[in-house]
Amino acid sequence: MSFTLVIHGGAGNITPAIMNAQQELEYTAALQAALRKGAEAMKAGGSATDAVVAAICEMEDNPLFNAGRGSVFTKKGLNEMDAAIMDGSDLSAGAIAGVRNIKNPIKLAREVMLHSGHVFLSNEGAAEFALKQGVETATDEYLFNKSRYDQWVEIRDTDYTQLDHKGDNLKGPIPNTGHKFGTVGAVACDAQGNIAAGTSTGGMTNKRFGRIGDSPVIGAGTYANNRTCAISCTGHGEYFLRAVVAYDISCLMEYKGMSLQQACDFVIKDKLVKMGGEGGLIAVDAKGNFDFCFNSAGMYRGMTNSEGKEIVGYYGE
Ligand code: ASP
Repeated sequence: MSFTLVIHGGAGNITPAIMNAQQELEYTAALQAALRKGAEAMKAGGSATDAVVAAICEMEDNPLFNAGRGSVFTKKGLNEMDAAIMDGSDLSAGAIAGVRNIKNPIKLAREVMLHSGHVFLSNEGAAEFALKQGVETATDEYLFNKSRYDQWVEIRDTDYTQLDHKGDNLKGPIPNTGHKFGTVGAVACDAQGNIAAGTSTGGMTNKRFGRIGDSPVIGAGTYANNRTCAISCTGHGEYFLRAVVAYDISCLMEYKGMSLQQACDFVIKDKLVKMGGEGGLIAVDAKGNFDFCFNSAGMYRGMTNSEGKEIVGYYGE
């Protein structure tokens, strides 16, 4: 039985200068735990989709990442989370935006995919559906994260928006350089050669009420198709939305015959750079080829496969 699993925990200004030894240990352990959860799911006979959900849940439960428990605060001091999942075997997809008090938004996205008859639910509609499906909720207390709250308190009376980590305040709704993005994502190829992608995020600190990024938008931050690739993005969402990044990579493979790596390099390191968009992605195809690709200083990332290989990294080469 052969499988491949690739994950990310956000891209951005991640350099040895901003990480101490303790933080490196913490991120390594967190990424390894997510890889192992995802791999276990596939070893037990689970699908690529099962592995994506298992790996992402592990990261959503870890306050190190800006998703689930570690989600950042909006302009109104709330957590509003976005997530999406897509199954490349039949192009089924589920997404949610602006949800609050959900422990694992990726599980709600999967419920939307499997049981709603729709693809994308938001706000109260998503909350009502979560209740109906018995999706686990979380209290404000559970979702409260002191350091992310302090980040928000510092800038809540300004027009600044902050991308996940302290010290990177950016004026206006469309920030541009020098920050980190803590979104999480996973892509997998299972023993049947089916691929899947998922992404989950709290978005940006002090983001406008109702703002939706690229992560839950099928084709922008998340996409999977067995014929081409499974992609999960992280970075400055407004650019990823406008560049329709994940689907663009799939199209370059399908219509132009590019390899996975050629397509990722072209979109992330050429097209997006020319637009001024910062970030990265993880990718896998149905043969188990994979890629980490980013134009920022670093990206929290990891990969494992059925041969027991395990890679964890943060910085650029
Ligand atoms: N792409 C996400 C967003 O714009 C942010 C991130 O990747 O951390 O909401």
